[in-house]
Amino acid sequence: MPAPGEFELIERFFTRPARRATLGVGDDCALIEPTPGMTLAVSSDMLIEGRHFLSTVAPDRLGHKALAVNLSDLAACGAKPLAFTLALALPAADEVFLAGFAAGLFALAEREGCELIGGDTTRGPLAICITVFGELPPQAALLRSGARPGDDLYVSGTLGDARLALEVFRGTVALDETSFRQVRQAMETPMARVGLGLALRGLATSAIDVSDGLIGDLRHILARSGAGAVVDVDALPRSAIVAAQAPALQRECLLAGGDDYELVFSAPADRRAAVVAAAAGAGVAVTRVGAIEAGQALRLVDRSGAAVASDTRSFDHFRA
Ligand code: ADP
Ligand code: MG
Repeated sequence: MPAPGEFELIERFFTRPARRATLGVGDDCALIEPTPGMTLAVSSDMLIEGRHFLSTVAPDRLGHKALAVNLSDLAACGAKPLAFTLALALPAADEVFLAGFAAGLFALAEREGCELIGGDTTRGPLAICITVFGELPPQAALLRSGARPGDDLYVSGTLGDARLALEVFRGTVALDETSFRQVRQAMETPMARVGLGLALRGLATSAIDVSDGLIGDLRHILARSGAGAVVDVDALPRSAIVAAQAPALQRECLLAGGDDYELVFSAPADRRAAVVAAAAGAGVAVTRVGAIEAGQALRLVDRSGAAVASDTRSFDHFRA
């Protein structure tokens, strides 16, 4: 049997009946109508083999992650997911790969009510680019620019597992099998904090999702907000597995890990109870890790308040 062609692949693996979209896969454009009066939120993220994922990742997990990292940007904005497009470069028409990839992709898409409405499929080195479309009320978006001195600083979930898994793959750390399975799952199947992002609308003064490491991503908030911050490194939420590592490695994973897809956000200090309620409603733990300050410095301290030196850097594609 000849290998399936481009259109057969699209038909078999990426075509589902349009539900919310006016027009889905199969025509020159897809058509979507946001709820009247709502603003569209749009974001793209690309995943390249060897750069964003290892060749060892199972196809279904790759499908999940490709969409999850995009949903994470909607979450950081407080937008509700609507639809996405998928541009895919494949070295070959590998049906086993595509079946797994599509299964992971659609499982998450269905869970989040986000519909695949179009894309592009071409031959080339494995690369995945997804563009997500979400909606939110005008002026309601959580931006990087709204943090104010005196605001509390929070992190959702835990940080560092994905980086620890990467270190195991790099051979710099050894973990027992159960621990490795857990951190590997964090690296390969992150959960975007969509519900939390929605719950933080009107409450958080700024937000960003942690994709390149806490320090680097927090610096984006500070730069846009024209503010500084103090972070208690001992307060940073971490799994028992990360907590069992040597202190220097813990800090590297927590501060500069990347691939966490948790939210870091600020909120007024007098809204603490509301933040706790929002997090509980979304079913996500949030931890207060510091505060926004006047100035431009990002100060790291330990639980006693003593300064902590750090030369950790966030990930930068053109410096790494
Ligand atoms: P065009 O030639 O107009 O770019 P294509 O031949 O590339 O259209 O694609 C045909 C249809 O299939 C379009 O509706 C496009 O959006 C959709 N499509 C192509 N690749 C994918 C994909 N990977 N996932 C979902 N839809 C896709
Ligand atoms: Mg095309």
